[in-house]
Amino acid sequence: MLRSPLDLTGARILLANDDGIHAPGLEALERVARSLSDDVWVAAPETEQSATSHSLTLRRPLRIRHLGPQRYTIDGTPTDCVLIAIKKIMADRPPDLVLSGINHGGNLGEDVTYSGTVAAAMEAALLGYPAIALSLLRRGDHDYRWETAERHAASVLRRLTGLAWPRDVLMNVNFPDVSADEVKGVRVCRQGRRDVDTQVIDGSDPSGRPYVWVGNYMSDETSQVGSDLAAIAEDAISVTPLHLDLTHGETLERLAGVFA
Ligand code: MN
Repeated sequence: MLRSPLDLTGARILLANDDGIHAPGLEALERVARSLSDDVWVAAPETEQSATSHSLTLRRPLRIRHLGPQRYTIDGTPTDCVLIAIKKIMADRPPDLVLSGINHGGNLGEDVTYSGTVAAAMEAALLGYPAIALSLLRRGDHDYRWETAERHAASVLRRLTGLAWPRDVLMNVNFPDVSADEVKGVRVCRQGRRDVDTQVIDGSDPSGRPYVWVGNYMSDETSQVGSDLAAIAEDAISVTPLHLDLTHGETLERLAGVFA
């Protein structure tokens, strides 16, 4: 099923994220969304939920806090926020578009499988709504260059929503860590795969007891041409369509032979 292109003027846009309601990346996304439409809604987690992936809170009640006009925070995950916004808060008139981010840090390659930012967009796509995840890379200790994402996001969003895309497809957009003027265009690319694995770091606490700490020391190196990692390495904006059907077609066919 192909959706028709979306006219953003007057569109109802729902914003979510995984860095929490107070995140500067959400503020940046709000400015972008408000430049596109006057009907912007926010439903974001109370606390940071990075790397919570597509988790849904089933074993405790959730509280919704109404912070202002069309602005809510929920003590749950990014997925909870999108589900509750669409099924309850906006039940009278659901959003035309769901945006998630702008994440503090890239969501490239295998990040996509851990990302709460991408999962919020996945949840929207599962519910049948067009959804786009946006993330901003940072390399080094300087501040995030929100201005880079803000300057380029509206045009990327307009072009994406000007195209009909199938249900169960969501878009994953990453902005490089360069100034807005240094961005080398937009690349449509595959989800990549890094050459280096996440580290598990040994340490000991002040009492001398050992711990391990999962270290986010992944290199962004990849040998894959045409991947999101390669696009970002070349200071371009990456745009990757993701599909909710995780089935691997080629292996499916080989397996069918094994169990025939
Ligand atoms: Mn995050």
